[in-house]
Amino acid sequence: MPMPAEAIPAFQDNYLWLLSGHGRGVVVDPGDAGPVMAALESRQLELSTILITHHHADHIGGVAELRSAWPDVTVYGPEDPRIPADFRVSEGMSVDLEELGLGTFQVLEVPGHTRSHIAYYGGGDLYCGDTVFVCGCGRLFEGTPEQMHSSLSKIRLLPEETRVYCAHEYTLDNVEFALWVEPDNEDLRSYQAKARMMREEDTPTVPSTLGLEKRCNPFLRFDAPAVVAVAQRRTGRKDLAEYEVFGEIRNWKDTEFD
Ligand code: ZN
Ligand code: FE
Repeated sequence: MPMPAEAIPAFQDNYLWLLSGHGRGVVVDPGDAGPVMAALESRQLELSTILITHHHADHIGGVAELRSAWPDVTVYGPEDPRIPADFRVSEGMSVDLEELGLGTFQVLEVPGHTRSHIAYYGGGDLYCGDTVFVCGCGRLFEGTPEQMHSSLSKIRLLPEETRVYCAHEYTLDNVEFALWVEPDNEDLRSYQAKARMMREEDTPTVPSTLGLEKRCNPFLRFDAPAVVAVAQRRTGRKDLAEYEVFGEIRNWKDTEFD
């Protein structure tokens, strides 16, 4: 069994994820080189691989500096000229980390937050960048509600026990909004108590599990009767498609909470 990924906190609320095997490290979305170098040094790891989910600065900002410190590093990223990658990967491709004892990671295309956003899925872990957050999802900077709905639908098909490694600690705020959407969701209410305790102890709430997200995350619950009812009430329409339910919940959060 490989070691579980470690969170390297960066900026205000980012988590850069560090995986390791056979003395080598893999980092997901190194927005800042400094904390990654410090983590590699204290664990005596050589940086072997960088996995990029999308082009935002808080996810790629440290790549150039890491590359000059570790010239042999291999950078994987989506088809997007805004991302400095050695290998472009897309849906159906995988990243082979067998040499590090970390297995292989499948690439999922999950447009919505950005148009070229991808996620990496392997060993029961999902690195999803800014697509799914604990009880939330990324803003639609470049994609449409239809695209994000289909990305989230794809993620929802993964096994319940999938660990969801997202890139930000937004959980408590997200849960608060989720409770506006579903005030009667008991799972959400009890998760809020748990998440508050974790944050008081400065423990990351990430990773969560897909099972938890399916019970608590309003953005993955576009077919739950209570969520559909809220979207119908807000839009005054009864005939909403799933992506429109999703879109209305996203719109509500964007306009009144963020
Ligand atoms: Zn982003
Ligand atoms: Fe981000």
